[in-house]
Amino acid sequence: MEKSKNKISFPATVLAPIVRFLRGEEKKLKTSRKELKNQDPFILGNRDSDNSVDADVAENVEHDRSYALRRQVNRSIVAIRKTLTRIKLGKYGICASCGKMIDTDRLAIRLTAEYCIDCEKQREKAKSK
Ligand SMILES: [Zn+2]
Repeated sequence: MEKSKNKISFPATVLAPIVRFLRGEEKKLKTSRKELKNQDPFILGNRDSDNSVDADVAENVEHDRSYALRRQVNRSIVAIRKTLTRIKLGKYGICASCGKMIDTDRLAIRLTAEYCIDCEKQREKAKSK
């Protein structure tokens, strides 16, 4: 263990339940990703060749919905994996950009927060440009 005065890291008693929670979430997300895939008419390959136009449209809508949701789920899974890695490295709660501690109120709302509120705002500003 490193001894450093200004390095505050969370004690294991705080991190253990977070890790448990995140692993549980990851499992749930993977299950819903599978379910979403099963709902996608394009992936199943069970489209009727003699589909009416209406049925085609419905399938397209269903595919788009399933695809959009799967992307969302994938993003959440990636965020959880990143967070678990950061916990392992002892970097949990430290802003990946400026290195400051992330506000614990913010972490309480978003366990997978990677940046402090200031850096997050800056990143969003840069994105919208
Ligand atoms: Zn920051």
